[in-house]
Amino acid sequence: MLAGTRILVTGGAGFLGSHLCERLLNNGAEVLCVDNFFSSTRHNISHLLGDRRFELLRHDVTFPLYVEVDEIYNLACPASPVHYQFDPVQTTKTSVIGAINMLGLAKRRKAKILQASTSEVYGDPKIHPQTEGYWGNVNPVGVRSCYDEGKRCAETLFFDYVRQHALQAKVVRIFNTYGPRMHPNDGRVVSNFIVQALKGEDITLYGDGLQTRSFCYVDDLVDGLMRMMATGPEENGPINIGNPAEFTIRELALLVLELTGSKARLVFRALPSDDPKQRQPDIARAEAALGWRPNVPLREGLVKTIAYFEATMRRNAPPTAIGGGLRVVNG
Ligand code: NAD
Ligand code: UDP
Repeated sequence: MLAGTRILVTGGAGFLGSHLCERLLNNGAEVLCVDNFFSSTRHNISHLLGDRRFELLRHDVTFPLYVEVDEIYNLACPASPVHYQFDPVQTTKTSVIGAINMLGLAKRRKAKILQASTSEVYGDPKIHPQTEGYWGNVNPVGVRSCYDEGKRCAETLFFDYVRQHALQAKVVRIFNTYGPRMHPNDGRVVSNFIVQALKGEDITLYGDGLQTRSFCYVDDLVDGLMRMMATGPEENGPINIGNPAEFTIRELALLVLELTGSKARLVFRALPSDDPKQRQPDIARAEAALGWRPNVPLREGLVKTIAYFEATMRRNAPPTAIGGGLRVVNG
């Protein structure tokens, strides 16, 4: 990436987007952050607002956008199950119509565009670990479908734009990522467990807690996204970006208790429907095509994330409620 490159980050005020904007600015880019604040606030990017190379635009990507940019990272979409199930129709619109609008913008500008896709395209996977060649096992009519199928359709659109319009479009499949600036109430497992442990509240394990996830620290993830964007026109993906170290949810809970020194109890709650039983990325393609692999082990990343939540709670200034006050389901 050349200094002065004009880069659009949709969903730029969110958890991942805010870290990406920061890294792009540090590399000399001009960054246009577009967000409708559905699952974030200005809080995440307030420290960037004074930078003359940073611009913030409140906009919903389901409406067309006419701006002059060289690269587009399309991250706009609520990512936590609680958030994306809050308004499922809007979630599908954001993924599908948002992708159409951003691809149209990329086509007009001849800009490179990267899609933040997800391991959810594999659904409740029948092969393990998941390779990019696996087509997935997704329920098309379940409560997670608005997100899973929306992201799958967005991938289809990206590859059709490559075939039909020779666009430089790239798809990255992100596996569970965590770190500072996750929303404390977004219901995702890492933020839930840390907040519960710090408050001494019960740690809520859904199901038997033996389902697995593989957790990637945000800095590693951002590095993977930027390496993918830097590839030539021959590389469209899809490429898995995630940390292959796999943990049960119970192991995660015990690690959070150890690192926080919390005496909170583990309690068991109903497993949400269509909750995938296991998830682990095969990252051979990322290693070969991008020279990428994650560097931050879970323990180290959790220490940094816990420090962030401790500081946020000390200031007693958590980001405000989402989407007009979301309820935490399964809680
Ligand atoms: P997040 O909810 O913190 O960020 C998403 C951002 O998109 C928010 O700022 C939200 O306000 C914004 N947004 C939502 N709908 C929009 C719309 N219609 N128009 C404009 N902005 C809109 O989530 P995140 O964890 O930062 O995820 C970012 C992207 O990465 C998402 O596309 C998500 O699907 C993908 N992803 C994340 C993970 C993860 O573990 N964090 C895993 C897989 C994929
Ligand atoms: N989970 C849990 N307790 C919580 C929140 C989540 O046991 O308080 C489980 C959830 O059922 C899932 C895993 O943790 O099996 C990861 O959930 P998350 O919502 O973070 O991400 P996703 O299911 O989309 O991977």
